Amino acid sequence: MKILPKHQDIKAVFLDKDGTLVEDVPYNVDIRQVRFAEGAIEGMTLLQDAGFRLFVISNQSGIALNYFSESDFRPMRQYICDSLDSFGIRLSGFYYCPHHPSGSRAEYATVCPCRKPAPGMLLRAAEEHSIDLHNSWMIGDILHDVEAGNRAGCRTVLLDVGGETEWLPGAFRTPDYAVTSLSEAVRKIIAAPGQVPVPAPCNLVKKAGVLAATAGRLAL
Ligand SMILES: [Mg+2]
Ligand SMILES: [Zn+2]
Repeated sequence: MKILPKHQDIKAVFLDKDGTLVEDVPYNVDIRQVRFAEGAIEGMTLLQDAGFRLFVISNQSGIALNYFSESDFRPMRQYICDSLDSFGIRLSGFYYCPHHPSGSRAEYATVCPCRKPAPGMLLRAAEEHSIDLHNSWMIGDILHDVEAGNRAGCRTVLLDVGGETEWLPGAFRTPDYAVTSLSEAVRKIIAAPGQVPVPAPCNLVKKAGVLAATAGRLAL
């Protein structure tokens, strides 16, 4: 008989897309231009083998800014899922935020709880997949990724490869690790000690965030 893991045992790694999982081509929806980052396939395989569920968490403000539509973006999401699948890597989810506060398409021009640095997409993924956020990680190439991960109660790795240029300070913007390659990020996560203790205030932040995320529009 297969023993299903308890909810609190399900851990995940959330990966930013552009500049982290794939090479950054700004506002790209052309699948021919997709290149997985160096070490991405090997790294995700190692994480999967170590028992982590894998998610992509991506801001796609190009939709709000009318550079492309959600239907233009969906083939990109499918291509990434299929490509990873061909290497035996299964994504548990691919969440994107189509919003931007100053978007030119009214239906997407909003301050939403899912656009990183807000943690809405991670909270939504946790809710839908019973993920223990305190046993999970966010990897991204800018401090907005770090902030989203930290606000969700995850541990975080900054992939410092030139994506971040502003270095705005903030309470949630310090990563657990800063590394210069995805392979190194994966090594740090796998070697890290187990679950961190859950501080009470994070539970409150988490609950508030889930409610806010539910109110927002989030396509999967
Ligand atoms: Mg990025
Ligand atoms: Zn959004």
